[in-house]
Amino acid sequence: MAQHSQDPVRYFEYIVVGCGGIGSGTVYWLSKRVGKAVLGLERFTLGHERGGSQDHARIIRVDYHDDDYTPLVRDSYTTIQDVERESGLKLIHITGRLMMVNKDDPRSEIVAAYEDAMTKANLNYEIINSTEIQRRFPQFCFGIQCCWSIHKGQWFGGCCDDQRCTYTTSTT
Ligand SMILES: Cc1cc2nc3c(=O)[nH]c(=O)nc-3n(C[C@H](O)[C@H](O)[C@H](O)COP(=O)(O)OP(=O)(O)OC[C@H]3O[C@@H](n4cnc5c(N)ncnc54)[C@H](O)[C@@H]3O)c2cc1C
Repeated sequence: MAQHSQDPVRYFEYIVVGCGGIGSGTVYWLSKRVGKAVLGLERFTLGHERGGSQDHARIIRVDYHDDDYTPLVRDSYTTIQDVERESGLKLIHITGRLMMVNKDDPRSEIVAAYEDAMTKANLNYEIINSTEIQRRFPQFCFGIQCCWSIHKGQWFGGCCDDQRCTYTTSTT
């Protein structure tokens, strides 16, 4: 736990500068290991609106173009649930995930890297075409002819209340 100003402790084994998403998570998990030997320093109020971790709706997803991310994110679902249990606060909302890419866009080549990473991570994904997207998800009417998507069910994605996460991991 981050030390508060009235705490008599003056010396710390670890000092984390900046308590955004990354820093507050570091403070939280470090303090689990070493207790009060951790100090988190933040220039603004906790949960402030001037950093990257400022919103209430950040996407969390296991699909990435890089093999390293997927196992990392999968583990983070478990760890954030530990924080939810401890704090009693709802921090992430799990949903399915639908990624849509215009096949004519040169950047769509990155989808091959996504597929590769997801296959290596043994994720059960599905590639569907634009006709199938509109059949299953009629709310999407984007008019792009050649579009493909990767569709996954529960646990593939969700929404994270980043500001609340940051505040919670800095103070719990
Ligand atoms: C508009 C937007 C949308 C995004 N959407 C997503 C998304 O959907 N999904 C996703 O995964 N990522 C998303 N990101 C990226 C993600 O939000 C950031 O990568 C992440 O929040 C960065 O966290 P951080 O802890 O590295 O930085 P920050 O949250 O910026 O934290 C840095 C902290 O350090 C503090 N600080 C800086 N200097 C000092 C100092 N000298 N002394 C003390 N404190 C200091 C700052 O005040 C700040 O609190 C988005 C980013 C933005 C901006």
